[in-house]
Amino acid sequence: MLIALENQKLVDAIAAVRHHAYQCPACQRTVILHHGTHVAPYFAHQNLGTCAVATEGETQQHILGKRQLAKFFGAWGPVTFEKNLPEIQQRADCWVARTQPVAVEFQCSPIGAEQVAQRTAGYRKVGAYPCWLLGERFGRQKIGWSLIDRFASPLRGWGLCLLFWDVGRQQIRVVHHLYQDATGSYGYWQSWVASLSELEAGNQRRLWVPPINVRQFRHDLNQKLMRATPALRPLQETLYLHGYHLAGFPTAFVTQHVTLPLFGQGLLVWRAVVGAWLFALRGTVLTPATIDRLAVQGLLVIGGHLRAGRFDGKVGLARAQHDFIQELIAAGYLGRVKSGWQINAEPQWAADYTVWLKNDEKKSG
Ligand SMILES: [Zn+2]
Repeated sequence: MLIALENQKLVDAIAAVRHHAYQCPACQRTVILHHGTHVAPYFAHQNLGTCAVATEGETQQHILGKRQLAKFFGAWGPVTFEKNLPEIQQRADCWVARTQPVAVEFQCSPIGAEQVAQRTAGYRKVGAYPCWLLGERFGRQKIGWSLIDRFASPLRGWGLCLLFWDVGRQQIRVVHHLYQDATGSYGYWQSWVASLSELEAGNQRRLWVPPINVRQFRHDLNQKLMRATPALRPLQETLYLHGYHLAGFPTAFVTQHVTLPLFGQGLLVWRAVVGAWLFALRGTVLTPATIDRLAVQGLLVIGGHLRAGRFDGKVGLARAQHDFIQELIAAGYLGRVKSGWQINAEPQWAADYTVWLKNDEKKSG
């Protein structure tokens, strides 16, 4: 930590003197000043005990970063280091005082989704905007559900994003407009931001999503099914009951749309499952309630999520449903009736997938 108490006054480690008596501002226990030639000064508890806000094992990266961030966020208002918030038993790495205060968390150590959610809720409770900036450890992780679930948050001008603080460059690396393409691959863009005005300005680049390769995707699905990939098992079982092979989904289901990164195995596979269920209801009227139910069930079967820690997937799922139904109507498979839709024709699944593959090999060989 950078701040300790001396005679009931807060002292910055930079201004502290060796061998003075310092206490933790939260638990009042003794803290020791650490100061070396290659080490930026900081305090650490003598005995960790049960301090609610202790950050022991704090790295030099964290200590350095906090000082840099205080400077970076200074343009928004006066910044306090390690602001103690006793009512929620939390301590913000940096606290920016403004109409809506900003609680900056520079996260360098491992942390679980539960704890992130709890701390985020704590800051909201005291009226602060929680801003998570991730350190090196997280920067090395692959962008996927684990990071997105814990830390991704919508930010004006940047879509859904993750923020990384780079201590070397003293800049924010913004991983923005996070999405999943129809095959379930995660996509994003990356921009370096050197000031708050650049952050406020938002993304200035033209964004272009590369199209998916459906043939390759079918091939990959088939390979995964042959290797009995666990994530696909519930899907194949669901479809098998209807006599379908996952990789043989109808061409009518193909889409180039992207989704919020909540779609597990991806939009195409979701369409395959929901489509199989939907067309099994031939002879009945498909009501909006039925479609809603199938859409949610489908999302769960493909390993998707209705929400993440800091954003909701309801609107995105409603859009996926809407687009699918509209395309099926346009292609003549569904027709509007009074209380919903009826099935006019059924899209063709590839009946014998191995034959389909052999044809494919001939073409490519
Ligand atoms: Zn303490």
